Amino acid sequence: MFNIIIFGPPGAGKGTQSSNLLEKYGLQHLSTGDVFRANIKGETELGLLAKSYIDRGELVPDEVTNNMVKDFIERHPDVKGFIFDGYPRTLDQGKYLDAVLQDFSSEINCVVALKVDEDELTKRLLERGKISGRADDQNEETIRNRFAEYNFKTEPLLEFYQAQNKLHLVNGMGSIEEIFERLCKAIDTHLS
Ligand code: ADP
Repeated sequence: MFNIIIFGPPGAGKGTQSSNLLEKYGLQHLSTGDVFRANIKGETELGLLAKSYIDRGELVPDEVTNNMVKDFIERHPDVKGFIFDGYPRTLDQGKYLDAVLQDFSSEINCVVALKVDEDELTKRLLERGKISGRADDQNEETIRNRFAEYNFKTEPLLEFYQAQNKLHLVNGMGSIEEIFERLCKAIDTHLS
């Protein structure tokens, strides 16, 4: 398998770029945010639990998220690989993911991290909130909370992947096409 993590703060463009990348590389997309939102919509037990955290801009507890991801991976045994989007978001999640992939004799091959400044991110999120109706994109306090969660809990993961020589920092400012090209260039260095 060839597994990519797309990393970046809320509003960095992970979802948009993931859908282009999965088409180009033939990979299976896993967006933990999308799975949570589908569960909220379907009013499942998992959805009810996740909603209370998501509405406050907090991370859903690791155990809940990890179990969901393991279940997703196990239900896709024949894929060429995964694009993990919005997961892992804590060091514990990162270690957990390594262990799950190891069970499939696989690993994370490449991590691409989108860098975008906070003013631009806030602008993008508020715009998205108007179109998508996502409650967590419409409230500035929730948005600030998500940045804080990212800075404290998720950024430390960058060092974890840097130490494994898997990390690529990618400028996430510019057009969707420009950013896509930068991402592909980084990913392709792991394919040759
Ligand atoms: P964004 O990256 O723009 O915040 P996502 O759809 O990735 O959007 O995530 C939305 C929310 O879902 C997060 O703020 C968080 O509450 C929850 N969530 C998503 N992925 C995870 C994760 N890996 N661990 C914990 N919570 C998560």
